[in-house]
Amino acid sequence: MRALTAEPGKSESVRIDNVSEPQAEDGAILVETLVVGVCGTDIEIMEGHYGWPPPGCSRLILGHESLGRVLEAPPEASLAPGDLVVGIVRRPDPIPCSSCAAGEWDMCRNGLFTERGIKHRHGYCSERFRIEPEYAVRIPPHLERVGMLAEPASVMAKAWEHVERIGRRTRWEPSRALVTGAGPMGLLATLMAIQRGLEVHVLDRVTQGTKPDLVRDIGAAYHTGTVADACAGADVVIECTGVGELVLGAMRHTAPGGVVCLTGISSGKREISVDAAALNRSMVLENDVVFGSVNANRRHYEAAVDALGQGDPTWLDRLITRRVSLDEWSSAFHKEPAGVKSVIEFSH
Ligand code: BGC
Repeated sequence: MRALTAEPGKSESVRIDNVSEPQAEDGAILVETLVVGVCGTDIEIMEGHYGWPPPGCSRLILGHESLGRVLEAPPEASLAPGDLVVGIVRRPDPIPCSSCAAGEWDMCRNGLFTERGIKHRHGYCSERFRIEPEYAVRIPPHLERVGMLAEPASVMAKAWEHVERIGRRTRWEPSRALVTGAGPMGLLATLMAIQRGLEVHVLDRVTQGTKPDLVRDIGAAYHTGTVADACAGADVVIECTGVGELVLGAMRHTAPGGVVCLTGISSGKREISVDAAALNRSMVLENDVVFGSVNANRRHYEAAVDALGQGDPTWLDRLITRRVSLDEWSSAFHKEPAGVKSVIEFSH
């Protein structure tokens, strides 16, 4: 079967390969791949900056944002042939650590977790894949066009869950949220903020096109410029860019008791100086919280599917700004600042 593969650590090594059919050890459910989303992590792997092949392999099958249709499932699985399914990305570490033992592999404490399409496990960007029933998430039929958003949405569902758990350390009545970055993660964070009844501000550098339209159409305010201009005094900030100035701006400009969730990963290419003493004073004197968040466990995928299910299907569909075939994979890996999400569609 055909698959999109890369040699991690080597730039420009991505290509379509003929690979063997999915191995039984990957799981009892056989899935026909419909669509695979492409994100910044895939681009990092393509550039040779991230990713690890499975043990004994030099190449890694890419793809962690999946959507497929079940071809075969064992009778005990709660999925049947024909069902739409998304595969969870992370698997617990083998020890397992206390978090992985509790099914919270997203909080793995020893770093020995594996991730499909990223870390020591083949991904989903092949014509077929196999998956274990406990790592397969059912997608309702009406989400067929946008089901591949369940994985990025799961990461945002976790971010919101943790923001709310932290918020409830005290009386918690948030009213304003700031989301930095209007890419897929930022827009999914915005959807979830709107669903929580918050006044939502979104900050991005793009001045026109799909992103501002999508933000305004969902009922949030769109801004360019600095965090202070966009929304000083937010109760919650979901930072989705990893850009140093925005991360620091978010930390400096929250309301007292503000919660800042960092989800973007900095490239580390630019140094900026920080007045650590001033930052310390404002965080302590205002009881602020800044925390990082990555990945998602099963309940976050389920929350993500609920959030997508409650969203406007037309709005969600507009998040996918480029749909290409497997043969055209390279255009899905080409960054397009005004675009939102690129996906690779499989034809069968
Ligand atoms: C994925 C996460 C993963 C992270 C780090 C992200 O792109 O969405 O599931 O944990 O990369 O590898």
